[in-house]
Amino acid sequence: MSDTAAKREPGAQREVSMEKIVSLAKRRGFVFQSSEIYGGQSGAWDYGPMGVELKNRIARVWWKEMTQLHDDIVGLDAAILMHPRTWEASGHVENFTDPLVDCKKCKQRFRADMIDEAKLAKKECPECGGELTDTRKFNLMFKTNIGPVDDGGGLIYLRPETAQGIYVNYKNIVQSNRMKIPFGIAQIGKAFRNEIVTKNFIFRTCEFEQMEMQYFVKPGDDDRFFAYWREQRWNYFSKLGVKMEKLRWHQHGPGELAHYAKDAYDIEYEFPMGWKELEGVHNRSNYDLTRHQEFSGKDLQYIDQDNGNERYIPFIIETSAGLTRQLLMVLCDAYDEEKVADKGTEDDWRTVMRFHPNVAPVTVAVLPLMKKDGLAELAQGIRQGLKEDFSTDYDQAGAIGRRYRRQDEIGTPFCVTIDYQTKEDGTVTLRFRDSMEQVRVHKDELEASLRKAIKDYTRA
Ligand code: ATP
Repeated sequence: MSDTAAKREPGAQREVSMEKIVSLAKRRGFVFQSSEIYGGQSGAWDYGPMGVELKNRIARVWWKEMTQLHDDIVGLDAAILMHPRTWEASGHVENFTDPLVDCKKCKQRFRADMIDEAKLAKKECPECGGELTDTRKFNLMFKTNIGPVDDGGGLIYLRPETAQGIYVNYKNIVQSNRMKIPFGIAQIGKAFRNEIVTKNFIFRTCEFEQMEMQYFVKPGDDDRFFAYWREQRWNYFSKLGVKMEKLRWHQHGPGELAHYAKDAYDIEYEFPMGWKELEGVHNRSNYDLTRHQEFSGKDLQYIDQDNGNERYIPFIIETSAGLTRQLLMVLCDAYDEEKVADKGTEDDWRTVMRFHPNVAPVTVAVLPLMKKDGLAELAQGIRQGLKEDFSTDYDQAGAIGRRYRRQDEIGTPFCVTIDYQTKEDGTVTLRFRDSMEQVRVHKDELEASLRKAIKDYTRA
């Protein structure tokens, strides 16, 4: 039953490619193409049984980080549909555009800023060499209509970011929850962008989820809190258990800085297709609330009652992360192929997702060695005892080695195997995913052992 006997060469690893991630994601129920039976809907993806668990857990780690571990941050769940004036005030109607070119020959559409400069200057299609159109601005917001009459009067947008829902509620939250500056508002939710290029699986999609936190500070304190939040966000990723050497900072240069931003940094991750933005930390100055005050006609100044009722428009430090993009990062980061044995002339490899136990879709799998002789019933009873506190799976079909491999592929950090000895002395085998080490633990001590293993977990 043991796979610890397997001959391991710790250095033996294979490269991670996006094809492998996409294939595993489908095979194991993490991510499916949207509307696949109709040929698929580009820019949209469905999260299967493993994917939704992973996504919810990443969201939970982020939410805990923001709201539970920071006393001065509260949550919000604002509507996707907002008053259209919101997007005029925010600058999205005017500025939320990508430069777009079309090829007259092959009819493909490109983002002009992603084409080689020399080719763009010559108006040459990067795919077929055909002639490109002039560059035009393309607004990324999805428009729809609200109300029974579609005459343009009911124009409404699907929000392209969650941040504006926070800004328009800032005064409500100050008043209802007696928040004092500095404080933050955190939100997780869907956002929609009519992206021209939706390559690289779930990296850039038209429908996605964001995890944003907007931190309101006194003007003058912004540089200090901007530095503080950069540090906080960096540390978050080490808690998520990802390879820190695959992360780096990128500071926006003068040409990249958004018109409202005083300073901006991105955290980038080295995805299989290269270094790409994972999330942004931005000093947005007092642009947002100044604009909403102007467009709504409502006084959005903060009244500092502890300082002689001093009034000011707060500066905002934003931490803006993509939940679905973070999920892709976690998938890429966890993916590993490891040589576990030599089988005759063939090598034996396992695919293992090295998720941190806090985000793994299944925390513990319970596996009876055999279905017969009461082992299945015993295993079911043990699973029942763990269910309340852990996310569990139960599998009694097939050879134990194959069952371990399946759990490795979905990234289950712990397997508990019930065998004949369990019937005699109440002990079970606890198998650790990363090391494949197996130890015998009494079933009454299982819960405590699992809790300790989760708390002490470090990435191998
Ligand atoms: P880009 O320049 O790549 O289009 P952005 O700088 O406009 O992205 P932000 O508006 O700062 O991105 O959004 C914050 C975060 O939301 C990004 O770091 C990313 O994680 C996520 N995000 C943005 N657009 C998408 C998308 N189309 N699909 C998935 N995630 C996205």
